[in-house]
Amino acid sequence: MRRKLVAGNWKMHGLRAQLGEVEAIAAAAAANRQVDVALCVPFTLIAAAVAVAGDMPIGAQDVHEADQGAHTGNISAAMLREAGATLTIVGHSERRADQHETSHDAWAKAAAAHRRGLRVILCCGETEAEHNAGRAERIVQSQIEKSLPDGASPDWLTLAYEPRWAIGTGRTPSLDQIEAIHAIARAKLRMMVGDAADGIRILYGGSVTAANAEAILAVDNVDGALVGGASLTADKFVPIVEAAA
Ligand code: 13P
Repeated sequence: MRRKLVAGNWKMHGLRAQLGEVEAIAAAAAANRQVDVALCVPFTLIAAAVAVAGDMPIGAQDVHEADQGAHTGNISAAMLREAGATLTIVGHSERRADQHETSHDAWAKAAAAHRRGLRVILCCGETEAEHNAGRAERIVQSQIEKSLPDGASPDWLTLAYEPRWAIGTGRTPSLDQIEAIHAIARAKLRMMVGDAADGIRILYGGSVTAANAEAILAVDNVDGALVGGASLTADKFVPIVEAAA
């Protein structure tokens, strides 16, 4: 059985003034031991968040593929570890759009993170145009094929399906659409890593809220959620954690 994981992605939100939210979310995580909870915060907040998060994992939202070097403005996996992060998101669609990252970049970042002992949430998902053209399934398969790092295993890798058109829009695919894509993602993982695919969690992300979490989390092959806007405050995020429990 795959334990559910509810991960928050704070994106470019969060100053020290919001550490009380981290603390409140960590308290809820400690009270809901049947579900794994993690928060991915801005680089600048990682160490301070770790200090108040108890044993709730704190993660980053990106990592550079090199261990060190002349890469102005970037952060390596070793730096994230030193700050106290234990996981990182890679391949988020906002980085694909804003920083022109590719699936190959996500592959290199995931491998670098794993080399340094970070767990990885690897994102995939189609754009609205791709969705409308009926290409979602093929896009997701191709992204997984190009970005899944060698030796991917449930111990350190989680996949997240986040249709780009559902992020921050209040729109979500139908439950049938979510089920279909997650089934295809599972089948692709199975082709690539064999039996290990059965243990790899596949999260859904995109406008998850307390109102829709229970239904989405009940869909076959949905092993948790990656939550943006609704993860910023405990009052919105904790009900999603409870829906997963
Ligand atoms: P929203 O929950 O704000 O739609 O964001 C989803 C997301 O991008 C999480 O990584």
